[in-house]
Amino acid sequence: MKKRLILSFFYMGLIASIIGITSTVLVYHSVLKSEMSENLKNECEIVAAGYSYLTSLDRLSVFASDILRITLIDPSGNVLFESKAEAVNMENHLRRPEITEALANGSGFDIRISDTIGIEDYYYAMKLTDGNILRVSTDARSVFAVVGRSFYLLVLIVALIIVFSVLLSVKITSKILDPVGKLYSLIENDEDIDTTSVYPELVPMIDEICAQRKAQESMRREFTANVSHELKTPLTSISGYAEMIETGIAKNEDVKIFAGKIKSEASRMLTLVSDIIKLSQLDDSETTELSDTIDLAVIANECKDELDLEARKKGVEIYVKGKGETFPGNYVQLHEMIFNLMDNAVKYNRTNGNVDVTVSGNSICIADTGIGISEENKSRIFERFFRVDKSRSRRGGGTGLGLSIVKHIAENHHAEINIESTVNVGTEITVHF
Ligand code: ADP
Repeated sequence: MKKRLILSFFYMGLIASIIGITSTVLVYHSVLKSEMSENLKNECEIVAAGYSYLTSLDRLSVFASDILRITLIDPSGNVLFESKAEAVNMENHLRRPEITEALANGSGFDIRISDTIGIEDYYYAMKLTDGNILRVSTDARSVFAVVGRSFYLLVLIVALIIVFSVLLSVKITSKILDPVGKLYSLIENDEDIDTTSVYPELVPMIDEICAQRKAQESMRREFTANVSHELKTPLTSISGYAEMIETGIAKNEDVKIFAGKIKSEASRMLTLVSDIIKLSQLDDSETTELSDTIDLAVIANECKDELDLEARKKGVEIYVKGKGETFPGNYVQLHEMIFNLMDNAVKYNRTNGNVDVTVSGNSICIADTGIGISEENKSRIFERFFRVDKSRSRRGGGTGLGLSIVKHIAENHHAEINIESTVNVGTEITVHF
């Protein structure tokens, strides 16, 4: 960003200086040109004034110089005198524009590029009282000489402009970007931001970032509190049972029962910790690799095999039907997602209920004949640790994190989740990829 800004300012300076210098040279040239023609006219008038006093035409040479050429032409175009070449060898001049013009209007002017050296030649011609045409001319070497003399000055000015535009662009860029950098470090360090000292255009964005940070912070705090609470409950039971065994309060026949309770509480804790790890892994990974070829029906059948025993114990039957299209995704995550949804459909089902899993196209639908979810709880079931009936969830080994994991995985796959549910009738959750 900084480099780009500096470069744009530098180019702006460079382009502006090129335009400025080019237009100055053009204006310079045109001023010199008009001055030159004016001078030439004056010279011609002076020569014309002296012409009538000349004893011979050759005397015209006294007016000529290195830079001023004088030509005298008769009305039919023949050269009578020429200060620079042999007059007799010269072709007829009648067709020269300045001569034609002088014959018609009394005076004429023309600028031509000289054949030999590519330099502009300036001509001024005037009709004399005896009908002859007097022409004076000079070449533009003098104009170029003036520009040439200024050449080094122009190079110096361009160099100065370049140096100046580089320095200025660095300064302006830091002036623009410094407040943004400061703002970034304030946001990074979670410090208070005085919105009166930042660009007004950035205020809505800062407000949004601050609000998001606050929400994230409170979510994090709530999550930590929930985790501590959820871990404390089984730990309290474990330590209680262990104490009873240790102190001998537990009778011999109870020891086995208490050991079983300790085992089930410990396994609850393990499930909880493993769910927390899964969630934090999903939170941490910025992008999920979606490089596996996913067949939803295959995954659903795998989950059915894993859940069948548990379902049978509850008298619940799982059916998987349909065939979908394959698409790229993350196998481990999608297996976790479908397992969680089917596990819930078994857990929150009634005895002798069904779980119907239907795969079609890019979507999977898990329908159960269970307790259902009320309208008000529908929007909350994806929250971390939210459970409609805490003790029922706990009995089924639930942590309240299953659907949060599902939601996260769906987001990673840009999938949409839709829930249809009626209390005491059943729930139908569709995930569309
Ligand atoms: P849990 O570990 O408690 O199952 P989840 O995040 O998977 O946690 O689900 C959150 C809550 O949503 C559950 O406690 C339950 O109350 C409700 N729920 C989830 N799936 C279903 C379902 N198929 N039928 C009825 N209620 C459900």
